[in-house]
Amino acid sequence: MASAFGHITAALSGGYAFFPAHVRWRNAGAAAFCSIVPDFDVIPLFLGVPYRSIYGHRGWSHSILFAVVFGAIVGYWLSQRTPAMRRQLMGWMILATLSHPLLDMLTKGGLGVTLFFPFHNQRYFFPMQPIHAAPLGAGGFQAKWGLSVFISEFFWIDLPCLCLIACSYVARKLHKLFFQQAL
Ligand SMILES: [Zn+2]
Repeated sequence: MASAFGHITAALSGGYAFFPAHVRWRNAGAAAFCSIVPDFDVIPLFLGVPYRSIYGHRGWSHSILFAVVFGAIVGYWLSQRTPAMRRQLMGWMILATLSHPLLDMLTKGGLGVTLFFPFHNQRYFFPMQPIHAAPLGAGGFQAKWGLSVFISEFFWIDLPCLCLIACSYVARKLHKLFFQQAL
């Protein structure tokens, strides 16, 4: 898995770029939670469920179906004011949840992700895996490879997210500028 920091960074920057009107503390907290919830599947590992099982790590909770269902429920719960607001919050939460398995598919280590559960239980990676996998447990970050995880995430998650935020900020400013001039 990518680290929790990496997953949360991706979820929040996606919200800022695509759903700026809904960036509030409560919504951002929910998006951060959505981005890490698939990794709660490590709990069954401690109860004896094998990693390779569909109920193990990177199994059913790392699927598109899970992201759509879980994200839609959280987004619906966040706002019931107007249908448009509800749709956008559902979209952000689905995107936040889905970003998790997609980032995991870029990590070097462990098994792939069952992205298409329950239709295919095959595990997938992207052809390129530049991100070093984070250890399963906070203690692992004290090991020598903790630094390599942070460095690889800086280049492959943090920098692209910063670019996304900067581009969306500039695009919104330009849009406002041209619209105001046209009026
Ligand atoms: Zn994961």
